[in-house]
Order: sequence, then structure tokens, then C-alpha cells
Amino acid sequence: MYKRVLLKISGEALSSAERPVCFEKIEQTAADVKKLHDAGMQVGIVTGGGNIMRGRDTVAQDRSRMDNMGMLATAINALALQDCLIRLGVPTVVMSAVAMHRFCEEFTARGAVEALEAGKVVLFAAGSGCPYFSTDTASALRALEIKADALLLAKNVDAVYSADPKKDPQAKKYDHLTYEKVLNDNLQATDLTAITLCREQNLPILVFALKEIERVARGEAVGTRIDANHA
Ligand code: UDP
Repeated sequence: MYKRVLLKISGEALSSAERPVCFEKIEQTAADVKKLHDAGMQVGIVTGGGNIMRGRDTVAQDRSRMDNMGMLATAINALALQDCLIRLGVPTVVMSAVAMHRFCEEFTARGAVEALEAGKVVLFAAGSGCPYFSTDTASALRALEIKADALLLAKNVDAVYSADPKKDPQAKKYDHLTYEKVLNDNLQATDLTAITLCREQNLPILVFALKEIERVARGEAVGTRIDANHA
């Protein structure tokens, strides 16, 4: 079982068709996070922001400014998730890559590790703090900085497939993949920068459905594990 993990939660997991920030969904997600915490894992979380703003989806606007808006969106999600975790009795701290002292603490790797060791769930807001990056890449970065045992990518699909399983019934589900195979076959596990960083630093990635998190908490093999192991 993993001792310390970095969990990436997409903005999509916190929204519904009616509301971009949906507290029913966020409460559910907080309850899922609590399962990892209750299992004794140290949990860092990077929240996405795609439910509110995605810089790369804009065309006419200035990309850096749009990405800044995207990073603010991740902070809104982190604060919303913090609120639900507090109500479930889970100690938390939000740390932002961009200073916003009135709302949360500023990120330092040392502060994050201290908070994790004290039993707090650490929510990382504002991604990497830099435009042109995604929260998947920020997750890989924070996972390395806090020395997590694995990067957990909770998705709305249960694993990595050879093709989109919703469109292609022949799509093959992978239990295990190497970084090379993901890169060579252009498999849609995470973005290129994130997978390259994980490969360089040999950080294992687990792709699974958020609803399976209880099994992850029990240390069961779920979804797809991506690492350097060719066996
Ligand atoms: N973003 C950024 N730098 C980062 C992380 C995120 O500029 O390090 C911006 C970017 O515009 C991105 C948005 O924040 O589109 C929301 O993040 P992401 O698209 O990764 O969220 P998700 O799709 O996972 O909800």
C-alpha cells in the first residue's frame, strides 16, 4: 500500500450538468478522499479547474491571461473541496503556487511535507503557478516535490485503453503499461509533459475511476499502473 500519494482531481469531478461548482459532487469527492485518509495514507491533492476555465480552450484571447484565470479556477475548487473535507472532520490545508494570503497558505515543499506528516490533507491550488502547463503536469511536479510513492490520476474512465472505449468496443484495457508504451502509442493517460516528467524521475502513475478509490485505499490493484517495469 502507498504511504504518501498525490491525487489529481479534475474539475469535471466537482461539477454537474447544471452547475460548474456542484457541492453535491464535491461532497462525494471529499468522502472519497476521506477513505484514503482514513486508510492511513498521507494525501496531497491537485485540483483541476476545467469545470470553470481552461486556458487552452480559448482562441482569440491572450493565452497567459487565460491560463491565469484557469489557475484561479483551480483555487476555487481547492477551497470548495477544503470546505467539504473540514465538514467531514478531515484536517486540511490549502497551499497555493501563487500568493493569496487572505485565502490560503503559500506553497513550499517543506511546509507541505510537514502538514502531511501532521496528518493533514494538503490541497495544492493554482497548479504549477505558470501558464502553458496543465494540472496533470502540476500533479507530477508536486508528487515529486513531496516525495509521493505514486501519482494517482482519478478519471471518469476506469483505466487506460488502446482507444476510446465509448467509441470502440474492441478497445483493449491495460492493467499495466510502461512510460515508453504510453508515449510511443500516444495513449491518452495524461499529457506529454506530465508523462515525460514521471518517466525521467521514475514516478509510478495509477489511472483509475474515482469511484474505485476505496479499493485503492485497501491496496488492491485497480485501473492501469504505469511505470518503468517491462516485466
Ligand atoms: N493552468 C495553468 N498552469 C498550471 C495548471 C493549470 O495555466 O500549472 C491553467 C490552464 O489554463 C488550465 C486550467 O488552469 O487549462 C485548468 O487546469 P486543467 O485544464 O489542467 O484542469 P482539469 O481539466 O484537470 O480540470
